[in-house]
Amino acid sequence: MSRVEHPPIGGPSVTDEPNRYIISYCPMCETVYEASRRDQLTCSPACRVKAHRTGRLDELKRVAKFLDIHPSLALRAQATEILRPDLGRKIAAGEIDYDDILSEMDAAYNARAMQAARMVMGDAE
Ligand SMILES: [Zn+2]
Repeated sequence: MSRVEHPPIGGPSVTDEPNRYIISYCPMCETVYEASRRDQLTCSPACRVKAHRTGRLDELKRVAKFLDIHPSLALRAQATEILRPDLGRKIAAGEIDYDDILSEMDAAYNARAMQAARMVMGDAE
């Protein structure tokens, strides 16, 4: 999917900044992906249906409610642990917030994409 199809995150207050995207984690197919909405919980409609059917979304929502956070934040945390655990530690320490690392997460995601492309082309390392 082309990046220009995603709406910008954050609304009018960030119009002077380049568009930022939420890098999240799909609890169903267990992959990191670019979410088009801040409150998105799965990577695709197919995963959403499957996650409902298997009870995985209910489990996520139950845990998030218990911890008094939005379920999407738990998934952003998971994506951060996968792509940039160093930043996850800073967030856990209260030094920074998830919205402070949007460009770092985007860069890490794109680096993974390039790595995948090189591996598929048989040109890794
Ligand atoms: Zn998925």
